[in-house]
Amino acid sequence: MKRTQSRAQPSLLRELNTRQVLSAIQACGPLSRAEITRQTGISGPTVTRTVSALLEANLLEEGDLRQSPLGRPGRVLSLASKKVAVLGIVVEPQRCELVSAGLDGQIHADSVRSFATPSTYADFIKAFAKQVKAASHERQTNVLGLGVTVPGLLNRWDKRILVSPNVHQIDGRPLEADLQKELGLDTLIVQESHALCLAEQLYGAAQAVSDFAMLDISSGLGLGVITGGRNLLGHSGLAGELGHITVELNGRPCGCGNRGCLETVASDTALATMISERIGRTLSMDEIVAAVQAGELQADAEFGRMLEYLAVGIAVVINVFNPQKLFIYGRAFDADPRLFDRLLELTRRRTLPPSLADCEIIRARGSKKQGAVAAIIQQLTGMSEP
Ligand SMILES: [Zn+2]
Repeated sequence: MKRTQSRAQPSLLRELNTRQVLSAIQACGPLSRAEITRQTGISGPTVTRTVSALLEANLLEEGDLRQSPLGRPGRVLSLASKKVAVLGIVVEPQRCELVSAGLDGQIHADSVRSFATPSTYADFIKAFAKQVKAASHERQTNVLGLGVTVPGLLNRWDKRILVSPNVHQIDGRPLEADLQKELGLDTLIVQESHALCLAEQLYGAAQAVSDFAMLDISSGLGLGVITGGRNLLGHSGLAGELGHITVELNGRPCGCGNRGCLETVASDTALATMISERIGRTLSMDEIVAAVQAGELQADAEFGRMLEYLAVGIAVVINVFNPQKLFIYGRAFDADPRLFDRLLELTRRRTLPPSLADCEIIRARGSKKQGAVAAIIQQLTGMSEP
């Protein structure tokens, strides 16, 4: 028993030191060894040893010399971005997007590949394998892993996608295990609202914010909640499905099988559907944004209806979870900056005043692409949750 403990403890310590070093660089940007020692409180020799192991594992890269006020100048260390890369894929109902990034989370601007969302599960696996292969070949770097964001209910225990109301071809499928087998690559599937929360925590306006909510209105309506610094998952990871709460008793059919769900009236897709029906032609959200900006499309009634329902959804989140910040991720507000002010006014009428006074409502800065990449980086480096 004692021997097991004495063997286990040094490796546990090594792991903790590694996480602390990586987390310090993640939070502060490039640091010298002396700065890592100051930031983490780990002893100098241990930092030197840990950094050497991380350099050897290609998780860190050494950069320029930095002057130190306390001693000799030292080379700065950053999360590796030249010799290694990770990939991220965002699954949306119509299209999927693949990007590559360094371990610093910086997406390579020239790496975006977009492809139609395959209509069968078998084609999903095939298309992903083809795109990942092409992207890896193109970058000519060592690809360490793949993060994939998916819409829908993802079981936290067996990682099966139980139901995806707008991408039914992945219902019931163990996408993570199947991709891992097909690609031979570390793969992580992450629910898209959770991915948005992670992107905002690591690279956006939620750094060091321990209570916030993320409303994703882009294709369906998703909700991520960070409370007391922890991601609210529920018993099996299915918490946060605000989009499938009935708000119109006899409303439109929803992808989940119910009718009149919040996402059928308060999302970019709902808005595009309403406008397309009125003008008798299918318009994408990009086309709507461009047409409204150019003054070629008047859609006040549809925007007004969507904002009314969205305000009700926001009021639910603020009244129930009391977040310090509430982020909104969606395209509708790109059409006209005044729309967001209108939403705030409508929200004010629906929300309990003290809860609203406590909460800042802002647009999300992060993206699902960043979330996909951030999730796999965290897994590969063993960095703790921010
Ligand atoms: Zn629904």
